[in-house]
Amino acid sequence: MLEGKTAVVTGASRGIGRAIALRLASSGAFVVVNYNGAKERAEEVKQKIEADGGAAAIYQCDVSDYGNCGTFIQDVIKEYGKIDILVNNAGVTRDGLLMKMSEEDFDQVIDTNLKGTFHTMRFVSRQMVKQRSGRIINLSSVVGVTGNAGQANYAASKAGVIGLTKTAARELAPRGITVNAIAPGYIETDMTSVLPEKVREASMAQIPLGSFGKPEQVASAAAFLASEEAGYITGQVLHVDGGMVM
Ligand code: NDP
Repeated sequence: MLEGKTAVVTGASRGIGRAIALRLASSGAFVVVNYNGAKERAEEVKQKIEADGGAAAIYQCDVSDYGNCGTFIQDVIKEYGKIDILVNNAGVTRDGLLMKMSEEDFDQVIDTNLKGTFHTMRFVSRQMVKQRSGRIINLSSVVGVTGNAGQANYAASKAGVIGLTKTAARELAPRGITVNAIAPGYIETDMTSVLPEKVREASMAQIPLGSFGKPEQVASAAAFLASEEAGYITGQVLHVDGGMVM
């Protein structure tokens, strides 16, 4: 289904990004597995893709660094000739109440989640415009739509991702490029494994389907948005949240 396509997935060493990388590769895409610190885990993702008959490469890049992203994307284009699919998945949390939140914690989350998404889109969109085709998929969150006590920085970053997605969708539509966001609910990964039991219980009470999500369920949505079949869908926010937000 994605044979001949080149995909870049940021933050693909773990969790949702890892599942998206595996899923795109199993659909036939060549996948660039980006990581920041976890080189061994990124290498493991590449090895799994290859063991399953796919092809991948790993690239270190801190997406919060504009220059680093420019070099990363240019290197990928130089090496593989094109980028058909960009998935902006890299993300962090630094939770705390607004009144106590440090400027550093606010900036770090915005710089990674929102500016990181801008950085890669900035460079990849130039290439996609030349190609007159492309798919960009950005990871937002239910929290970017509803807000969440203790996550002012994270909610602001994820709401920003939605605005960025819709604007880029309008700008790039005439060039045959679609830009969509996925808003996951509560997905079981390293990011949520650190949450206290009380928070887990309160989240579960808000999920009509009655279970936490799995990274593979988000990956299915990403694979759909990356596919030919989704060619008439742009500027949308697809919720993968067990019905948390409707
Ligand atoms: P994890 O914490 O499990 O993994 C985060 C990934 O992001 C890692 O691969 C990490 O790389 C990478 N990363 C972090 N900072 C950077 C950076 N500066 N540059 C490059 N890569 C970076 O997160 P999840 O899998 O849970 O989340 C993935 C995305 O989905 C995030 O954007 C998150 O906000 C969003 N999301 C998650 C939800 C959930 O319930 N889990 C719900 C809603 C949205 P490394 O390992 O190298 O550090």
